[in-house]
Amino acid sequence: NKIKIGVSSCLLGENVRFDGGHKKNQYLFNTLSHYFDFHPFCPEVAIGLGIPREPIRLVAKDEKIKCVGTKNETLDVTDKLKAIADEQVSWHTNISGYILKKDSPSCGMERVKVYNGSMPDRKGIGIYAKKLMDNFPDLPIEEEGRLNDSVLRENFIQRV
Ligand code: SF4
Repeated sequence: NKIKIGVSSCLLGENVRFDGGHKKNQYLFNTLSHYFDFHPFCPEVAIGLGIPREPIRLVAKDEKIKCVGTKNETLDVTDKLKAIADEQVSWHTNISGYILKKDSPSCGMERVKVYNGSMPDRKGIGIYAKKLMDNFPDLPIEEEGRLNDSVLRENFIQRV
């Protein structure tokens, strides 16, 4: 039996991104799929955003981090992204690890751009990813980009 792990859907070639495309990761597809049974999940689609959709981004506002539309800041999906991570708790309990899409305001686990004025900094964590990590501090989680590093990759495989 393969080990069940959660994956950001777009990494498996599902056309769920804001522009209707995907970010298929060949390494996941060609190699890690021999070991893992992937369970895809796209938090942005799960909260009801369409495909295609207005892109969202993290902004620093009133000393809080919010996830809002790039054109329309009244589109604030911060609470919905947190809520969907909580609603998925029983699903998360049945997986042994998670591979997240880097740089995403929803799925990125580190170095996500946060806008505050003109120059973004790279200190953010995706809203869904942060709630996932808070809810399951012991769940092995990696970003697809970091799996290119053989040490991090082996470490992740050992932990799940
Ligand atoms: Fe991929 Fe996550 Fe963005 Fe969905 S929310 S398209 S799974 S990075």
